[in-house]
Amino acid sequence: MSESAPADLVSRTWACAFAPPAKLPASADVVIIGGGIVGVSTAWFLAKQGVNVALCEKGHIAGEQSGRNWGWVRQQARDTREMPMIVESLKIWRGLADEIGEDVGYAQTGCLFAASTDAQLEDFSAWLETADEYGLDTRIVSAAELAQHVRGSAVEWRGGLYTASDGRAEPHKATPAIARAAERNGAAVLSACAVRGIETVGGRVSAVVTEHGTIKTSMVLCAAGAWSSMFCRSLGISLPQLKVRGTVVRTAPADSVLDGNLFDDHLGIRRRQDGGYTVAHGTILDHSITPSTFRFAFKFLPALMQEHRTLRLSVGHDFIDEWRMPKRWGLDSESPFEKTRVLNPEPNPRAVRGIRKNIDTVFPQLADTEIVEVWAGMVETSPDVVPIIEETQKIPGFHIATGFSGHGFGIGPGAGKAIAGMLTGNDSGIPLHEFRLNRFFDGTPIRPQSSV
Ligand SMILES: Cc1cc2nc3c(=O)[nH]c(=O)nc-3n(C[C@H](O)[C@H](O)[C@H](O)COP(=O)(O)OP(=O)(O)OC[C@H]3O[C@@H](n4cnc5c(N)ncnc54)[C@H](O)[C@@H]3O)c2cc1C
Repeated sequence: MSESAPADLVSRTWACAFAPPAKLPASADVVIIGGGIVGVSTAWFLAKQGVNVALCEKGHIAGEQSGRNWGWVRQQARDTREMPMIVESLKIWRGLADEIGEDVGYAQTGCLFAASTDAQLEDFSAWLETADEYGLDTRIVSAAELAQHVRGSAVEWRGGLYTASDGRAEPHKATPAIARAAERNGAAVLSACAVRGIETVGGRVSAVVTEHGTIKTSMVLCAAGAWSSMFCRSLGISLPQLKVRGTVVRTAPADSVLDGNLFDDHLGIRRRQDGGYTVAHGTILDHSITPSTFRFAFKFLPALMQEHRTLRLSVGHDFIDEWRMPKRWGLDSESPFEKTRVLNPEPNPRAVRGIRKNIDTVFPQLADTEIVEVWAGMVETSPDVVPIIEETQKIPGFHIATGFSGHGFGIGPGAGKAIAGMLTGNDSGIPLHEFRLNRFFDGTPIRPQSSV
């Protein structure tokens, strides 16, 4: 257990002063839009290969999803399409701190999904075939073994799905550290630098227009997280994407009830590097209905049905805000990206109360442990809950990497390697065909294999 951390340990990643760039590069081989884990990992891999790359982030590096997530680095229970990328990602995480010379909070601490019923345990078993195919150490553990990993719980589980080789990293550390590594390798990392749009010549990308000026380039990567659909729409590209809000708490350092990550119907809980816990509710995800919900409803039906137990639907000001949002804008005036530099949703107070109650129910020995920080993040997801990665057919040179859902942090470094390969034309060995945007339009059945 370490000394207690400052109260804004996580939230100061985004609740701090903006630092606009002193100077903009005139040109770059590749311009990346978005300083989340996907954008910075791609920049790092490109810069290491000597590619002249500029990354533009409208707010702070890791200011949105990549700084707000639970910090799980998980292979277990993934969609089969993500397996080659996550296996590669784990290899990168294991050597990341040594390679970049900075702590990212990574540790191989294991991941457990605990089952309350035999039927749930049987469902978990179905994934063992995938684990076998990729040579993972995933197995079903008995209730007795589970009790060794999760100590002193008041809940009696039937057993669980366990992967010892899974791990965790600290979101407030990892993405900024990778961004600094990219900079040390020559990338220009520009924060408080919103991209308003792109310019084309003969239909091909020719430049990126930012709020601080223009960068000439023939290649752009849109890794804009929750903003990708809106950015693409302004270019006439339909990208089905919806957002759900997740509420998260951080506790003070406390007794060790587990070393890794645990999910069950009550909680998603992870032991932090500082000896506290990052905790979320097991069954509360908020979706605020917006015009996009209606626009993409048909494509998202399978995901909505799958998540019906967890999703809390509501209608509020988000509907009006999105309705009023311009679909296109001039590149010489303020864009919606500068207006909302950081997407900073309010935590759901009901979820916070539920988390407190569930901590006390599952781990009575943590009942006196204080919740010291609370935040929320918008998870953006695609209809089949796996990413969209491709060079668009409509605008040659314009690439997309988005839709990583609630599991893009762990896979981020692997995605960065694969996307850098796509941009340079060098085969990373990680297949990307399943992630093409057109799968949502060419009649391919939309079948989510994992949850949001
Ligand atoms: C509450 C929560 C819990 C999660 N838990 C986990 C977990 O435990 N494990 C896991 O693997 N994943 C988890 N995830 C998912 C994971 O955080 C995301 O999938 C991942 O961080 C996505 O990274 P990204 O780089 O694609 O997007 P982001 O991190 O959202 O980055 C996109 C960036 O683009 C910037 N941007 C947008 N538009 C523009 C523009 N026009 N100009 C310049 N910049 C722009 C934004 O400001 C933003 O910083 C969780 C997510 C949330 C919210």
